[in-house]
Amino acid sequence: MKKEKRIKRDEKILRKFIEVYCRENHLKKGVEEYKDGLCKECYDLLQYSLNKLYNCPLDPKPQCKHCKVHCYAPSKRKKIKEVMKYSGIWFIKHGRLDWVFHYFF
Ligand code: SF4
Ligand SMILES: [Zn+2]
Repeated sequence: MKKEKRIKRDEKILRKFIEVYCRENHLKKGVEEYKDGLCKECYDLLQYSLNKLYNCPLDPKPQCKHCKVHCYAPSKRKKIKEVMKYSGIWFIKHGRLDWVFHYFF
């Protein structure tokens, strides 16, 4: 797969996973939406992750979970892992196994 195409696909996955996590854990519990269907915290996490994705120093870029560099700050890495795990399970329960194969943290 071409690099730009891979990045676009990863972007889509990040958005999907963070969206589900935010909807189920924040918006449904009364946290105010900030932008693009996300609360402020999740919107910031998405921007942070997209910034890392687009500026990854590795070429070809591995999946982040297999990366030796780990450019994420520890707190952000912990958070994105939590998001990926939660939404991965959510997708399995909702019959969207196709998304889970992309699980990259
Ligand atoms: S964690 Fe590794 S693969 Fe992921 S964006 Fe950072 S340097 Fe690239
Ligand atoms: Zn949120």
